[in-house]
Amino acid sequence: MTRVVVLGAGIVGAACARELALAGCAVTVVERGRPAAATTAHGEGNVLVSDKGPGPELELARLSRRLWPQILDGLPDAGGVEWDPKGGIVVATTEAGAGALRDFAASQRAAGVDAGEMDAAALADAEPHVTKDVTAAVHYPEDAQVQPAGAATALLADAIRAGAVLRTGREVLGAVTRGGRITGVRTSAGIIEGEAFVNAAGPWSGEVAARLGVRLGVRPRRGEVLVTAPQPPTVFHKVYDADYVGAVGSGAEELQASAVVESTRAGTILLGSSRRRVGFDDRMRPEVLSVIARKALRLFPCLAEVPVMRAYGGFRPYVADHLPVIGADPGLAGLWHTTGHEGAGIGLSVGTAAVLRDLMFGNEPEIDAKPFRVDRPAVRSEGESG
Ligand SMILES: Cc1cc2nc3c(=O)[nH]c(=O)nc-3n(C[C@H](O)[C@H](O)[C@H](O)COP(=O)(O)OP(=O)(O)OC[C@H]3O[C@@H](n4cnc5c(N)ncnc54)[C@H](O)[C@@H]3O)c2cc1C
Repeated sequence: MTRVVVLGAGIVGAACARELALAGCAVTVVERGRPAAATTAHGEGNVLVSDKGPGPELELARLSRRLWPQILDGLPDAGGVEWDPKGGIVVATTEAGAGALRDFAASQRAAGVDAGEMDAAALADAEPHVTKDVTAAVHYPEDAQVQPAGAATALLADAIRAGAVLRTGREVLGAVTRGGRITGVRTSAGIIEGEAFVNAAGPWSGEVAARLGVRLGVRPRRGEVLVTAPQPPTVFHKVYDADYVGAVGSGAEELQASAVVESTRAGTILLGSSRRRVGFDDRMRPEVLSVIARKALRLFPCLAEVPVMRAYGGFRPYVADHLPVIGADPGLAGLWHTTGHEGAGIGLSVGTAAVLRDLMFGNEPEIDAKPFRVDRPAVRSEGESG
């Protein structure tokens, strides 16, 4: 039985551990803190196809979207996952934005995404409180939502049921190598040996890779979200401004923000989100929160009187070409990476795990995994810092 050590117990590590344990590997998950407590606890939980244009990330998103309900159906208790296939609605509020949104939706439709334009009456029916200043709206019925920490915990529990072992409070410090191959990781509580190692350390996976002696261009990209006090039903889909896609695709260091509004099962409304490249600086910036609130109010003016209960932030694992990294490390045999999902790692986790399993077992993955390979320039070259 192949011994696999998964480094990191966020949602990506949890999904990989589950997939590999079910495939018959002897899996150990090593986590320096607690499971699902880092970036995974700071995401909004959208499982989206709507924000992805035709290409490899959309294919991974569609694979993941197919897998989520199948996986949840097989879990003994998936209640905490709060799976909600509520659909998404993207709106434009300017004429230029309307043209761009229609073109984007047409390209997605050509790639097989269900993306239907809504007229004003259909939009008012679906989202009665959204602004009337909408120039175009597109409905994406495939968009869904999970509770991120609940989802990660459920995947990890399934991995443990399949035989995986979780080791928390152990920080990965370095590699033990023999003949150009990694045979163990040195941790703060001793060495853990194995035949294969999966770097799933999210925004810290560049740092973990460096400790293991290889280069990986994954860096943190900060994001913040506001949470309102619980409300009566007000927002029924995930609703976001069409300019969100531009903010996601931009690699700019300075603040990018666009309105993303959705309710949770607890009745709170999440107002997101920002994107900033500030290293691991986790200070809350009131001016960033103001921009998020202002943009959300443009979409839902009725939220003006609603109290904000709290704000939180996290670090997305960012790669300069905006694609995840899934594959074997070309410089250190036995090392694999599953990271770099930026703002989509919750949704993409289960597809990533399926692709990793196939690659590790020498099978053809369901989607083309070459675009995610580790030796591409954005991941391997020295690139920018920060
Ligand atoms: C504001 C915000 C909103 C978001 N919204 C969404 C969304 O709606 N939908 C979506 O799909 N994604 C969203 N994301 C992105 C998503 O949260 C991430 O892509 C995802 O959580 C990454 O998961 P991960 O398992 O790779 O990383 P993490 O959850 O960070 O897990 C990595 C783990 O590795 C551990 N680790 C690090 N270093 C070491 C070490 N040396 N030794 C041992 N363990 C170590 C960490 O403690 C951590 O637990 C959002 C992110 C943010 C910040």
